[in-house]
Formats: sequence, structure tokens, C-alpha cells
Amino acid sequence: ATPTAVMVATGVGASQGILIKGGQALESAHKVDCIVFDKTGTLTIGKPVVVNTRLLKNMVLREFYDYVAAAEDNSEHPLAKAIVEHAKKLHSEENHIWPEARDFISVPGHGVKAKVNDKSVIVGNKSFMLSSGIDIPMEALEILTEEEEKAQTAIMVAMDQEVVGIISVSDPIKPNANEAISYLKSMNVESIMVTGDNWGTANAIGKEVGIEKIIAEAKPEQKAEKVKELQLSGKTVAMVGDGINDSPALVSADVGLAIGAGTDVAIEAADIVLMKSNLEDVVTAIDLSRKTFFRIR
Ligand code: ADP
Ligand code: MG
Repeated sequence: ATPTAVMVATGVGASQGILIKGGQALESAHKVDCIVFDKTGTLTIGKPVVVNTRLLKNMVLREFYDYVAAAEDNSEHPLAKAIVEHAKKLHSEENHIWPEARDFISVPGHGVKAKVNDKSVIVGNKSFMLSSGIDIPMEALEILTEEEEKAQTAIMVAMDQEVVGIISVSDPIKPNANEAISYLKSMNVESIMVTGDNWGTANAIGKEVGIEKIIAEAKPEQKAEKVKELQLSGKTVAMVGDGINDSPALVSADVGLAIGAGTDVAIEAADIVLMKSNLEDVVTAIDLSRKTFFRIR
């Protein structure tokens, strides 16, 4: 393509909220035959809400949430925001404050840890509990399976190394997710979902959006490894994601697309930024690139 054609395409993209960082990004996009999608915040709306809480110990709900919110208030993760929002609602006063959290640690793709008052608090997925040396009771595992089959993410809460509760969070798929995926199929582009979330929820969401190839419980490095593996098999791979946890994969991909109001880290790592949270823009970006580069051949 001529520099002028690239400039025109870049301009057309920008006018639709698709920011293409240079000619190379635009050129690579026309060869893409495989797209790896993150789940949370990419295929789903990314504004999860707490829909259920199951306490395994005799605790006052409000107190339970004070501890959890104190820990999660330090995290940028959409799940953390949902939990903090929910905790706020349990208090009638406007400016309720949680206890101070100390020694806060956030482990991307796993969860958070902090000291709150006298307790050590761990909030996150099953593997985070296991790697933290916490035994998961049968009852908790049963609740987990139950919630995951409903496409909800079940988050475990441990206090002083004991699972005390499970928070279920629901994050619906984006309204146009299905259409975008089936449109890509018609363009001979294969879609794959890679998520840090658990298998149960991932499969349930995959069914809703029409993606059959799914990789769940993937750590951020594993998302990148999957991208590289697909590249080795001869594919030109795009990665679409929104979070810090997606950055390694965004960098590894032939084309990294950061979606919506993603984190700064993701936006920086990406080649193309989709300003609106719209999945149709993935289609538009590839289409724009194909129109620019196939024409001249
Ligand atoms: P995704 O790939 O779907 O965007 P992440 O990789 O960000 O998901 O997270 C994977 C899983 O790790 C989440 O589903 C959740 O169980 C757990 N997790 C991550 N961050 C947090 C957090 N701040 N609080 C609780 N759980 C978390
Ligand atoms: Mg995400």
C-alpha cells in the first residue's frame, strides 16, 4: 500500500475510535487468521456485579465484606471493584470506611492478599488458595461448581488460612459479541478464548458467545505462550484484551488490540486501540486493513 493509502485508512479508523499505531500494525492486521480473545472486559461487559454470597463460617455479612473490601480496595481489577461496590451498599452511611489494609499484594490472574486488622485476608481463585497453602473444604468446591455452571465467577475468601466465604459475581457478555464472532468466522478468522477464569465459567461464556476453542485458568504468561504456539503452527495471530494480565499476550501477538477503557498497561502494549468497548470494531479494524492491503497486490 502507498503511504497515502495507509494514512487514509488510519484516518478512517481514528474517526471511528480505532487508533492504529503505525503502518506496520495496519499491515499485519490484514493477514490475521486467528484471534485470541480475553474473556473478562473483552467478551463480557467487564462490569461484574456481586449476585450471591455464601458464608461458610458464622460471620456477620457486613463484617465479612469490610475485611474483603479493605483488601480489594487496593486492586484495579473489575472483580475487585464489584466487591467494593457491593460492600458499600451494605452500609447505610455515605462515607463508610473499611479498616486499613497492610502488606497488600496483588497477583495478576489470581487475586489479592492483605493484612486487615488482626486477620490475614486472601481473596481470589481456587489455584490462589491452593498456592497459598489453604485447604478447600468439599462444601466450598460444591458451591464453586454450582456457580460456575451458571456462568458466574466464584471468588473464594480465606481469613487466617481458612476458607470463610464465596462471592459469586456475574459479568454478562457484550450485546454484539455473538455477531462479531460469527462475522469473523465468515471472514475465515478463527476465534479462541483465553481466560484466567475457571473452566466452568469459561465454558458457559464460550457457549453464549459461540466460541468453541477455550483455554481457561491461564496465567498471564500462559496467554502469551498460547499466542506463540498458534504462531508456530503457522497462524497470524491477533490478541484482543483489556487488562494488565493481557499485556504479555498483546505484545507477543502479530497484532495486539486493546479494547475499550482498558488499563494503561494494555493500551501501551497494543498496536491498535479500540476506544469504544465494541467487539464489532475488531471486525472493522481487520476489514479496514484488508481493504487497504489486498487492493494493491
Ligand atoms: P480474565 O482473564 O478473565 O480477565 P484474570 O486473569 O484477570 O481474568 O483473573 C483470573 C481469575 O483470578 C479471576 O477470575 C479471579 O478468580 C481471580 N482474580 C484475579 N484478580 C482478582 C482480584 N483482584 N480479586 C479476586 N479475584 C481475582
Ligand atoms: Mg480482562
